[in-house]
Amino acid sequence: WTEGTQSDADNSLTELAALAETAGSQVLEGLIQRRSRPDPATYVGRGKVDDLTGVVLSTGADTVICDGELSPSQLRNLEQRTKVKVVDRTALILDIFAQHAKSKEGKAQVELAQLEYLLPRLRGWGETLSRQTGGSGRGGGAGGGVGLRGPGETKLETDRRRIRHRIARLRREIKGMKTVRQTKRARRSRNAVPAVAIAGYTNAGKSSLLNRLTGAGVLVENALFATLDPTTRRATTSDGRLYTLSDTVGFVRHLPHQIVEAFRSTLEEVAEADLVVHVVDGTHPDPEEQVRAVREVLSEVGADRLPELLVVNKTDATDEETLLRLKRLWPDAVLVSAHSGRGIDALRQEIEQRLPRPAVEVRAVLP
Ligand code: GDP
Repeated sequence: WTEGTQSDADNSLTELAALAETAGSQVLEGLIQRRSRPDPATYVGRGKVDDLTGVVLSTGADTVICDGELSPSQLRNLEQRTKVKVVDRTALILDIFAQHAKSKEGKAQVELAQLEYLLPRLRGWGETLSRQTGGSGRGGGAGGGVGLRGPGETKLETDRRRIRHRIARLRREIKGMKTVRQTKRARRSRNAVPAVAIAGYTNAGKSSLLNRLTGAGVLVENALFATLDPTTRRATTSDGRLYTLSDTVGFVRHLPHQIVEAFRSTLEEVAEADLVVHVVDGTHPDPEEQVRAVREVLSEVGADRLPELLVVNKTDATDEETLLRLKRLWPDAVLVSAHSGRGIDALRQEIEQRLPRPAVEVRAVLP
């Protein structure tokens, strides 16, 4: 359902489809319902549930993905009515994060977020732990399936306790890993190496830009969330000063709060940068909304106090009219194309100018 305009809903649904494809699904059909708020029982209205069930039957779909966060009972009701698995936006995003996390810390953070999402839903889904930890958003592992075995109060309690223990343990582990990272960071800051964080909506071209600026050979994927674990590379200014450039996790609208929480420590690294290079996709239908979403997350981790350099990327593929509009909207933004290299030198200069100047150290050399 949506309370926004048709084009908001279309954009959001297009993005949801891209997210679903990133997660490995094949998207068959989209359904939009306009209403002022979700139906408390079934999320979409009752009549729409019939439409949805019809679409499920005619397409042979095995999953329904909803563009919002469903309450445990909405999820259960929809599953009962449509007879297929129902996944909400949060579970989908968590699933993608789980597939893409590479570092030990990233993996632990995603698992923590998944378990926190799962805990209040255990009763609602009425399924066993073994199936649910098989990866949200997937077909589910254990063959038993929904409704074959009621969890029973005791089983449910055991599952909950196991999850709580695991959550506590993950929290401890993540805290430990954070200390290691802080030590590394402290070393960097003792060396007084200025840090630049590249932030931006997912798919805006952050990795491509990092590659352009440093020749780093970072994985570039036309998939949402290719970047989960921050990559840090060294770069030098034209006068030979060293600085670091870090690619940050992808940002997306309605980022589940579990993810923001879980990735807080990673995102906090952004807050300690000297400069945020905020990359915007010039070809996106609603770049302003993306900028808003990113700034919201930045402010949640206290990075909104930092100097921000706005960079409009993909200008090779942006039409002239849009470019003019964006120039008027953000007069200080640097227009670049990570693909063609346009504006990259100008961007380098802008970054250099905004880096803090190191205090000049004068040492007397005694004979
Ligand atoms: P990230 O998620 O922000 O790190 O984005 P990526 O660097 O992975 O790029 C996402 C997609 O946008 C990839 O398909 C890139 O090839 C594409 N892309 C990146 N920069 C440009 C550009 O300057 N022009 C065009 N046309 N596409 C670009």
